[in-house]
Amino acid sequence: MKREKGQLIVLSGPSGVGKSTVIAELLSQRNHIYFSVSYTTRQPRVGEQNGVNYNFVDRTEFERMISAGELLEYAEYVDNYYGTSLKAIQEQLDAGVDVLLDIEVQGAAKVRSRCPGALFIFIIPPSFEELSRRLHRRNTDSEDVIAGRLEKARGEFREIPNYDYLVINDKVSGAVAEIEAILTAAECRVENRKSILTQFA
Ligand code: ADP
Ligand code: 5GP
Repeated sequence: MKREKGQLIVLSGPSGVGKSTVIAELLSQRNHIYFSVSYTTRQPRVGEQNGVNYNFVDRTEFERMISAGELLEYAEYVDNYYGTSLKAIQEQLDAGVDVLLDIEVQGAAKVRSRCPGALFIFIIPPSFEELSRRLHRRNTDSEDVIAGRLEKARGEFREIPNYDYLVINDKVSGAVAEIEAILTAAECRVENRKSILTQFA
């Protein structure tokens, strides 16, 4: 059933918890959902593709986008800028397509104030030790960067009460199933099914 407006979904969680892995699996299973490819000034990791994982830009271009008001939100995270293009997501939402943002907690707070209907999901690892293991196993960041990301994680966990749902990424399939359940429940809300109700009036 086509909806008039898509659902904006914000997914946050500490670096290394498995957001990209879970999102890739979710997108392979679910239709009518668009992943917002963020802009960032960080360097691509091995295997990351421009326009797929991120749009990689330099600081000058990022600061131009900020001044031009092209970003729904942006934040600085461990010395780099990250931000969401307003135009790209607005087009999808207007076309009735759900939009998924993978953004950190400061950006999520901005979306909370600008987009009251958005859905907020926080994803955690089964333990702090497992988070550290995953960051090391990914093998993409230096020991310094990993330490910075683990330190950052402690502050991010304190933001969990501001989110609607908490998903635990123990097994990827379990985390994906929990997110699927949340999205299905959101779809079934009365306010999202108004168009079908007109025939029963
Ligand atoms: P994020 O996008 O949150 O920074 P990634 O998706 O890059 O995290 O995952 C970090 C590392 O953890 C990767 O090596 C990934 O393969 C691994 N990983 C993700 N989910 C799980 C899981 N449920 N169990 C074990 N390893 C996982
Ligand atoms: P990473 O460098 O590990 O890919 O991402 C670092 C952090 O930046 C993650 O917490 C991720 O969710 C967040 N992030 C990615 N894109 C955006 C964005 O567009 N805006 C904000 N605020 N955070 C983002």
